[in-house]
Amino acid sequence: MTDNKDNIRKIYELLPHINCGLCGYDNCGQFARAVAEGNASPFGCRQNPWVGYNISEIIGLKVPAFGYQQRSYQHAIRPSSGPVASLELLRKEVGESLKRIEGILNRIDKLARNTG
Ligand code: SF4
Repeated sequence: MTDNKDNIRKIYELLPHINCGLCGYDNCGQFARAVAEGNASPFGCRQNPWVGYNISEIIGLKVPAFGYQQRSYQHAIRPSSGPVASLELLRKEVGESLKRIEGILNRIDKLARNTG
C-alpha cells in the first residue's frame, strides 16, 4: 500500500495541477489515484497527455513510442465493450454517462467563469 501511495504522489507531481476536470475526475489528485490503481489511462490528462509516458514508467507499464495501447485500463475507458445485458442496464449506463458529462461541462463552465 505504501508503494501505491508513493506512486500516487509521484504521478500527482507530474500533473499540471490545474484541476480542470477534463480527465473525468474532479481534480488532479483523484486522477493520480485512479491511474495508480489501474482505473484510468496514464495518458488521460487532457491538459498534458504526453506526461503519460513518464507516468507509465512509474507504474511499470511498457509503452511503445507511438500508438499506445494498454489493456489494463481499457475497462475504464470502454466500460460497455461487452454484450448488452438488458435494455434497463443500457439505459442506466447511458444515464450515468450523461451525469458524468454534465459534471464535466459544469466544471468547464465554472473554470470559464473563474478565468473569464
Ligand atoms: S485533465 Fe489533467 S489537469 Fe485537468 S484535472 Fe485531470 S489531471 Fe488535472
